[in-house]
Amino acid sequence: MDSKLFSLEIRHIDAKTGARYGVLHTPHGDCEVPMFMPVGTNATVKCLSPEELKEAGSGVVLANTYHLHLRPGEEIVKQAGGVQKFMNYPGPMLTDSGGFQVFSLQKTRKISEQGVEFRNIYNGDKEFFTPEKVIAIEEAIGADIIMSFDECIPYPVDYEYARKSTERTIRWAKRGLAAHHRPDQALFGIVQGSSFRDLREKCAKELAALDFPGYSIGGTSIGEPKDVCFQMIEDAIRYLPPEKPRYLMGVGSLDYLLGGVERGVDMMDCVLPTRIARHGALMTSAGRINIRNAKYKDDFSPLDSECDCYTCRHYTKAYLHHLAMTGEEFGKRLNSLHNIRFLIRVMEGARKAIQEDRFLEYEQMILARYGDPRGF
Ligand SMILES: [Zn+2]
Repeated sequence: MDSKLFSLEIRHIDAKTGARYGVLHTPHGDCEVPMFMPVGTNATVKCLSPEELKEAGSGVVLANTYHLHLRPGEEIVKQAGGVQKFMNYPGPMLTDSGGFQVFSLQKTRKISEQGVEFRNIYNGDKEFFTPEKVIAIEEAIGADIIMSFDECIPYPVDYEYARKSTERTIRWAKRGLAAHHRPDQALFGIVQGSSFRDLREKCAKELAALDFPGYSIGGTSIGEPKDVCFQMIEDAIRYLPPEKPRYLMGVGSLDYLLGGVERGVDMMDCVLPTRIARHGALMTSAGRINIRNAKYKDDFSPLDSECDCYTCRHYTKAYLHHLAMTGEEFGKRLNSLHNIRFLIRVMEGARKAIQEDRFLEYEQMILARYGDPRGF
């Protein structure tokens, strides 16, 4: 990776926590961190156009390696000129490793040192992902930030399983690094190790020694208690180089997002805000609401009076309620737009608070107002 094309410029660290404010420089533009990254599984964030994402303040947008490999196939994306051109997103993008999806196929997958065999869910064909194959797919897709192939260890798990899996993930990271050639892509190593502190330490240290341009923290937010999740994050970050970006993968609720930032995480993603939006669940500064609730049918106030998104500027709860009850596509779009903007705005507030050394107060204020932070 060319460090002129990709680097993290840390501008301020909060005086009381590990939270850091900075700018991530990528081949497709700069973004401020910490940031929430919307997920565009099939090279589209469901219901939203790239222009709408940009207007909501998005920086990096995710796409899924596994899904794009199966449909339309990475060669099509490559022929289009890369995923940014294919989906017309005017900013940096990130692809995951496919590991999470492949390992979720518990019935059909077979793991070996070489890689993972699984069945194509669409046509039943045999597929085989190796660390080298995943890098080749990600190079063809062409995102700015890519992930090495890893195993997302389930939770809870016994120590021996976690140890063998983590050691294999480290070997796979080395193989991925050797197979990666595009100088305009930043390949991140993924720290696994489940909840075992010595395994997190070993994985973080060995990956740090390989000098990846950034690091991900994987295997969190899969059912473990919150204190265990935060311990996993701390155990990884302690051994990662401070000048490199840190990405906490697939973390969805507000307390985990802010808890990650508090501990020095720069990037986070989750599919939840758009998924729940399509079902009428909306995140507002006063907590989560379900717009389908009958009490909103004649509520002509904006969804969230503090929000500056297109939905809140132009529409009432009564109208959003009506669209949800009639199943209109436009309602799903307005709801998605708001939830994405909500999380991006929480992160904008976090960045400001870090620069003013009051992140902890900000975090407490947001969580107190939101009520049950796991409620979305
Ligand atoms: Zn809004």
